[in-house]
Amino acid sequence: APAMAKSKFEYVRSFETDDTCLRNCYIVVRLDGRNFHKFAEQHQFTKPNDERALGLMTRSARSVMEELEDIVIAYGQSDEYSFVFKRSSHWFKRRASKLMTHVASQFSSSYVFYWKDYFGDQELKYPPGFDGRVVLYPSNQNLRDYLSWRQADCHINNLYNTVFWTLVQKGGLTTSQAEERLRGTLAADKNEILFAEFNINYNNEPLLHRKGTALVWKKFDETMMKPVKRASEEQEKEVVVTRSRSRVVALHCDIIGDQFWQEHPEILEG
Ligand code: ATP
Ligand code: ATP
Ligand code: MG
Ligand code: MG
Ligand code: MG
Ligand code: MG
Repeated sequence: APAMAKSKFEYVRSFETDDTCLRNCYIVVRLDGRNFHKFAEQHQFTKPNDERALGLMTRSARSVMEELEDIVIAYGQSDEYSFVFKRSSHWFKRRASKLMTHVASQFSSSYVFYWKDYFGDQELKYPPGFDGRVVLYPSNQNLRDYLSWRQADCHINNLYNTVFWTLVQKGGLTTSQAEERLRGTLAADKNEILFAEFNINYNNEPLLHRKGTALVWKKFDETMMKPVKRASEEQEKEVVVTRSRSRVVALHCDIIGDQFWQEHPEILEG
């Protein structure tokens, strides 16, 4: 922008408060859909897991990772997504409000922009919103525990929802009867209801539903032919050039145990 003469109003900028994120910490931005219980109803989401909605969430998260800087992993389930900025990131001088609002607005606009790719002709009835929060994690263990917490939440909710909707859809119970039936039950009881009464082995339910979605960067070599012309030669020649590129890949796997982290050592820094 052109240099502007300072006006007498300039002092109002000093009311802005500092929200720089502490150095050396992972910066996590978690978004959650606003009132998606109602949004799901209004848009006839299939219960317990609408594949279109999950796909659209992940498409939007992919857009966030591709368009913004320094996000090393994202994890999503239900109507939420967490984005982890690398601990050495200096994007927007680590200003929390800048990072959070860029994530939230890029995600929200993508959700609307890509709606038709997932819901086809089904009308988007009103503009959805997402809340955001920023949390700092100072150690690798804290960050892993954060992501483990979200994946454990995915598991607990999905087990509950799977039994609940099976009781309703296949068992003929009303929603309040299903709720009553499940009150006070433990995980083992829920697995048993599914297996004994409906012949469903929870462990065979789709990984997407049980584990949620982790988005990570994967390196690959891109080879292409490039025309070069040497001074010594008349003809242009095609040579093979290889360059290393990265793309976002979606994984539906356990991120609580060590294996995932051993297979993706580039996510955690020192
Ligand atoms: P940053 O991401 O840092 O905000 P920016 O390119 O958005 O970068 P701004 O200082 O916000 O920078 O300036 C917005 C720019 O957008 C203006 O300089 C102008 O070029 C353009 N712009 C915005 N609104 C209009 C408009 N209604 N008509 C024409 N140009 C516009
Ligand atoms: P808040 O604004 O407080 O977040 P909320 O209604 O969004 O309220 P959440 O706890 O975030 O409450 O729960 C999200 C709800 O959205 C779930 O309970 C579920 O009903 C619905 N939902 C989200 N994604 C899906 C999906 N893929 N399939 C079916 N239902 C979904
Ligand atoms: Mg601008
Ligand atoms: Mg909530
Ligand atoms: Mg919500
Ligand atoms: Mg939620």
